[in-house]
Amino acid sequence: MMINFHTHHFESVNTGIQVLNILQPFPNALPCYSTTGQIFYSVGMHPWYLNAATFEADKVQMEILLKQPQALFVGECGLDRLCDVPFSLQEEAFLWQITLAEKLQKPLIIHCVRAYSELIAIKKKVKPTIPLIVHGFNANEQICKQLLQHGFYLSLGTALLNDKSNAYRLLSIIPQKYLFLETDDKNCTISSIFARTSELLAIGVEDLQEIILQNFISVSKNRIVNL
Ligand SMILES: [Zn+2]
Repeated sequence: MMINFHTHHFESVNTGIQVLNILQPFPNALPCYSTTGQIFYSVGMHPWYLNAATFEADKVQMEILLKQPQALFVGECGLDRLCDVPFSLQEEAFLWQITLAEKLQKPLIIHCVRAYSELIAIKKKVKPTIPLIVHGFNANEQICKQLLQHGFYLSLGTALLNDKSNAYRLLSIIPQKYLFLETDDKNCTISSIFARTSELLAIGVEDLQEIILQNFISVSKNRIVNL
């Protein structure tokens, strides 16, 4: 069974698990899809689309959507030094969401661009007990090691298809129990990401599927049983 840990597009050919990301503007209810697989949701305020004018209403709607048990994750949310949204608003929104995730005991999916030291500082301050997963990881080796030292999981995506990328070079040093795979907002299938990863790690696709499934169970344990 393949798990797409973070996607913005429902993929009808995926008969495994997909975690669909819901961001602002938030819908009134979680969308429904017919699938032979299983769908979970992550609900969060994306740093690119933060807006001080809708911030309070977005908080309220996020909490409503996160009451659904299929909304297993909070996020994606985080910090992005390359976007125009004021960094102070990004920090405020991220702090609120990591605190909410801890209160709800739902793991957090994180978007981080050039703000890893701030991310680690917030983790040290909040001391969450929930799993934290940095999605779309493609930063350098030093950051990779720091994140692993601080217990973050890493989810890798289409950067693995590019042999010049950090993700491609660093895949083999990431302990497999901290690894997830995703398509994010890219137009590709999760099976192509699994195929490339199994090739790079020199393990069979089925073994890789099992590793990722165990990781999924491990981050969602005690949270999925209430479904
Ligand atoms: Zn995303």
